[in-house]
Amino acid sequence: MITQLDSSTVRLITSGQVAIDIPSILKELIENSIDASATSITVTLDNNGLNAIVVKDNGHGIPKEDRESMALRYHTSKLRSFEDLRGVRTMGFRGEALASCAQAGQLTITTRTKKDPVATICEIDKQGKIKSEKPIAADTGTQILLQNLFTHLPVRRQTMQKRASSTPASVKKLLTTYALAYPTIRFGLQLRNKGKRGTGGDWVVSASRSVEEVVGKVLGKGVVKDCVWLEEEDAASGVRIQALLPKREANRSVVGGKGHFLYIDSRPVSSTRGDSKTIIALVKSYFNIGAATAADPFVWMNIICPPGYYDPNLEPAKDRVMFGDSAEVIGIVEKVLVGVYGERPEQEKVVKQT
Ligand code: ADP
Ligand code: MG
Repeated sequence: MITQLDSSTVRLITSGQVAIDIPSILKELIENSIDASATSITVTLDNNGLNAIVVKDNGHGIPKEDRESMALRYHTSKLRSFEDLRGVRTMGFRGEALASCAQAGQLTITTRTKKDPVATICEIDKQGKIKSEKPIAADTGTQILLQNLFTHLPVRRQTMQKRASSTPASVKKLLTTYALAYPTIRFGLQLRNKGKRGTGGDWVVSASRSVEEVVGKVLGKGVVKDCVWLEEEDAASGVRIQALLPKREANRSVVGGKGHFLYIDSRPVSSTRGDSKTIIALVKSYFNIGAATAADPFVWMNIICPPGYYDPNLEPAKDRVMFGDSAEVIGIVEKVLVGVYGERPEQEKVVKQT
């Protein structure tokens, strides 16, 4: 017999797609802070996140009239209709993250806009509704506190416990990905135990003026010295490429194995699937033209597209996009690569990866 699931069951099932583990939750919360024009974002893990995770920003805060709906599912201030998705410039638009957080653990939101005389701290229930709220002293911005994650989902809780010791490293990686896309934002990580400083020190990527500067801070000045910064526009499509790529003559041990940072409209995309995978393979093949041994070069690339050029809404995590014309994008990237590394012999052409 087919019956309709009740709404609380549906909520539990669907919240699982956004709030899979600590990094996937933090990704959403960091993106919310970026969307709120924050210039400083600090993540705190208490007992590696097993007690609590906190994301604090100095963004514009959530206005009083929006607080009732901030953690309700499919409630967003960023998108009004499906049509808007074409030109969406914010990182979020699905209105799911805070609702999923409310499901995943005990959610407390403290927020203050410039207009508010004081901040407000709101405890949110499992349905995303405000359980209690009261004034509290805090600066302009928003702080999301999520305690006792996944206590109702034993398998996820267990997985989280097993991964606990590696969580700070995963979170640093995540923060690095965003820091390299948003150099002017300061990103910090604090490790605490029951609110107290533990043995792990605090980690910070301070605000920078450019991608080159932040790459220098995070991956070493040597990497930047061996790279070239490019900014090119394809007049026909309106696609712009910004890239920091190793020079032909770069020291292979300096630029090798430093990671791939690929962004579309400054949105981090996974570099191991689809078109992004093809792009990384392409850089690698150009960089290695005529080389005795193949190196895996550092790649930083941001592909800036005109509105409607791709569909960002393929997956809840939004880390994969579908281009209307992926051959065109690959062609544009290839032109940039020819400019840096020269033409590639015909037999070395890369086959499209899937
Ligand atoms: P989405 O980001 O897709 O809109 P979320 O559930 O992540 O959905 O957030 C819901 C709404 O809450 C956002 O549209 C925004 O208005 C507000 N919000 C969430 N986080 C913040 C934040 N850190 N600063 C300001 N506003 C926020
Ligand atoms: Mg969001």
